[in-house]
Amino acid sequence: MKNPHFDPSRQHHRPDGFQNTYMSFRGKKWHEILRWRWQAWRAGHPRALTEPVPVVAPELDFVHTNAQAGLAMQPAATWIGHITVLAQIGGLNILTDPVFSERCFPVQWAGPKRHTPPGLTLAQLPRIDVVLLSHNHYDHLDEGSMRALAQQPGGMPLVICPLGHKAWFARRGMHRVVELDWWDSHVLEANSLHAAHARMPVTLTPAQHWSARTATDALRSLWGGFAVLSPDCHLFFAGDTAYSKDFADIRRHFAREHTPEHGGGFDLALLPIGAYEPRWFMKDQHCNPEEAVRIFQDLGCRRALSVHWGTFQLTDEALDEPPRALARALRAAEIPAERFAVLAVGETMRLARRTSPDAPST
Ligand code: ZN
Ligand code: ZN
Repeated sequence: MKNPHFDPSRQHHRPDGFQNTYMSFRGKKWHEILRWRWQAWRAGHPRALTEPVPVVAPELDFVHTNAQAGLAMQPAATWIGHITVLAQIGGLNILTDPVFSERCFPVQWAGPKRHTPPGLTLAQLPRIDVVLLSHNHYDHLDEGSMRALAQQPGGMPLVICPLGHKAWFARRGMHRVVELDWWDSHVLEANSLHAAHARMPVTLTPAQHWSARTATDALRSLWGGFAVLSPDCHLFFAGDTAYSKDFADIRRHFAREHTPEHGGGFDLALLPIGAYEPRWFMKDQHCNPEEAVRIFQDLGCRRALSVHWGTFQLTDEALDEPPRALARALRAAEIPAERFAVLAVGETMRLARRTSPDAPST
């Protein structure tokens, strides 16, 4: 059996790997990949940018002071670029899918090259306590970044990831890794990370996507998103995903924690808005901005931050198109644009502290 985690009672498990709940993913055939590339070439995709991807100098003083603030930390999210966000909540410095390399590819001399440098460099990061890793695609699991973080002063961050990644880390001498199945949680207890922080359950949530790192390991390791319920901020990180009913399931799963008396839905959702054209090829793995807005609605979250755009040209839409399409979709859905933010690379978003019975406001 190729999947050592196989449990026939779990719907998304297969003897040789994993599968989505609602739309089975099937690897694209060579002729489909060629058809995509041929059609894109004939149509002149991707087109050049009409406006530059916005970049600002990071607020290093704020980020570093906040990093040390312990339980007085101001909930904040800094967009480093692509899928990488520094979330500062509950006293912890959390990184999502750290990608700092020049290219997201098995080798650094080929493959998609960064259009915008990281908003914070590895050297500018505060000490990272936790990494949330969504899956093993090269634009999410970046070996160079993981090796650098493993060497940070004070030791490797705790990596929380879906089933099937521990061996990859162990082969590289990295052992502070917790694997989760969908709906399973790892609770970060007070002071478990040598930093003053709140008690925080981290739950792996389903996503409509797939995994592959080589030509022969498609769907072998699991993919997913994360719900991090910190008393000062309930954070959701979708990872890579297409639109599916998974997000209505996620809302139901957390209904008890998200009643109005408990402060309502997720305070911030990091949602992907890029890498979606052509639809016939991408729609079972990446949502477009319109679908990202539906995910936002299905989750019932207060605010969202746009990620997975503006950094690597992975698909046919122009690199600067996703925010324009998002603005149209938000207007159509009558959602104020500030609720679904598009940040500049390097920009920090500050969040109001969640108020609920278990989070006395300070
Ligand atoms: Zn992916
Ligand atoms: Zn991706």
